[in-house]
Amino acid sequence: MRTCELTNLVEIDVSENNMEISRLGALAYDPAPESAALAKLQPSYGLFIDGAFTDPSKHQQFATLNPATGLPLAMVAQADVRDVDHAVKAARRAYDNVWSTMSGAERGKYLFRIARLIQERARELAVVETLDNGKPIRESRDIDLPLAAAHFFYYAGWADKLDHAGFGSSPQPIGVAGQIIPWNFPLLMAAWKLAPALAAGNTCVLKPAETTPLSALILAEILEQAELPAGVVNILTGDGSTGSALVAHPGIDKIAFTGSTEVGRLIQERLASTDKRLTLELGGKGANIVFEDAPIDEVVEGIIDGIFFNQGHVCCAGSRLLVQESVADEVLRRLVRRVDQLRVGDPLDKNTDVGAINSAAQLEKIRELTAYGELEGATRYTSSCRLPDTGYWFSPTIFADVSQSHRIAREEIFGPVLSMLTFRTPEEAVAKANNTKYGLACGVWSEKGSRTLWVAERLRAGVVWANTYNRFDPTSPFGGMRESGFGREGGRHGLEAYLNV
Ligand code: NAP
Ligand code: MG
Repeated sequence: MRTCELTNLVEIDVSENNMEISRLGALAYDPAPESAALAKLQPSYGLFIDGAFTDPSKHQQFATLNPATGLPLAMVAQADVRDVDHAVKAARRAYDNVWSTMSGAERGKYLFRIARLIQERARELAVVETLDNGKPIRESRDIDLPLAAAHFFYYAGWADKLDHAGFGSSPQPIGVAGQIIPWNFPLLMAAWKLAPALAAGNTCVLKPAETTPLSALILAEILEQAELPAGVVNILTGDGSTGSALVAHPGIDKIAFTGSTEVGRLIQERLASTDKRLTLELGGKGANIVFEDAPIDEVVEGIIDGIFFNQGHVCCAGSRLLVQESVADEVLRRLVRRVDQLRVGDPLDKNTDVGAINSAAQLEKIRELTAYGELEGATRYTSSCRLPDTGYWFSPTIFADVSQSHRIAREEIFGPVLSMLTFRTPEEAVAKANNTKYGLACGVWSEKGSRTLWVAERLRAGVVWANTYNRFDPTSPFGGMRESGFGREGGRHGLEAYLNV
């Protein structure tokens, strides 16, 4: 086992260059917290069924926690099979009587209204998201919220143009969609699911993740404000059993699932003997490929953004770094120094770069896999940042000397942990990048457009970014290959998942 303290590495850097430079640690910033009071949370929330908040049939509730403190934020309802049945029946009535018969232009008006209300309540929603998920407020404010609104705006524009979307002259909605989402981008994933489904004329039953239900419940309030007809969207909080009941309900026409490959596989097995439609957005182990001619300062920022954005709780995270051997030492040196500058701590602080790990269970999984990294002989560099005493935290970590057989190179860690490998030729880079069961996203860094295109054509991944990473846009399709799932969300392609074409 070899563990390198970051500080040592910077000292080596200094002596090598024979220069008098002080250690480039994190700059001191005064606290700049956003106010938690903006969240205006209620002590408890019911289920949103048929246009109103209702008590769950068994009156069971559970607490959703703030992962930065481990303290409860609010009580939410646990939906069971009966509640799922009520929600699906309400969605069916709304589909038959209102939504599928309404003109696209009318449906579009509701979507525009929802988009504007998300914008109006963006500050509140960003705080709710940060409290419930642990992500830095800078990210919820500048990425999750604007993108969630943008998805509704984008698909609002499609609602009256479906005849011209390239799916035939009069594409029809599928019916009632059951939608199950994870905890890493709670509101954004809800928007990715709801906006195209509604634009295409479907009605929805949405199940948010157990650890991050709050922004979906505020969204339910927004749907009420927008006077969306009752039953068009139903929101059921609960655990995996709620999701399972939704998948099993005979009244569902389509399941859209984003989450782990394990649960995705279970769902696919359950639906195999039915005529329900299915789209799966699953895990990933994205390769970020750096060629020696790429501009190194941009590369370092791109790598950092690719893996430490949202604590690495990103399905398409650039968690496998492939660097051309000739620049590998230099890239590692700079990365290790940059990681030490990341500010880890209070997610509500506007200066925070890396927030809390979403749950105790996720923290345990990250710890287990990183322990394997050391056991299997990789060299570990851990940020020297001081972690808060309460809540769930993990220091940003880089592993060098990683080989393709290591668990940290093969399994999705879903945390702030980067595994670095090297390559010599473009062919080797492509072979190593494709040596995974996943196929969600990759990045390529090079000055040469022809090389980037040559590599991109050979990568087996749904998305390839060139000289950037984690770039999302509602107009652009996103989705996986192989064990990262099938179906696309975003763009014109995202409509196809909700139309009988
Ligand atoms: P997960 O455990 O699969 O959970 C996802 C959702 O499914 C949650 O709402 C969960 O409820 C629910 N669920 C659990 N068991 C179920 C069952 N048997 N039947 C139906 N639903 C069930 O995944 P996660 O840990 O929340 O999310 C992390 C995973 O999602 C990672 O692998 C990540 O790569 C993937 N992800 C993929 C994308 C993409 O677009 N490809 C985007 C984001 C995340 P509970 O929360 O109550 O367990
Ligand atoms: Mg929570």
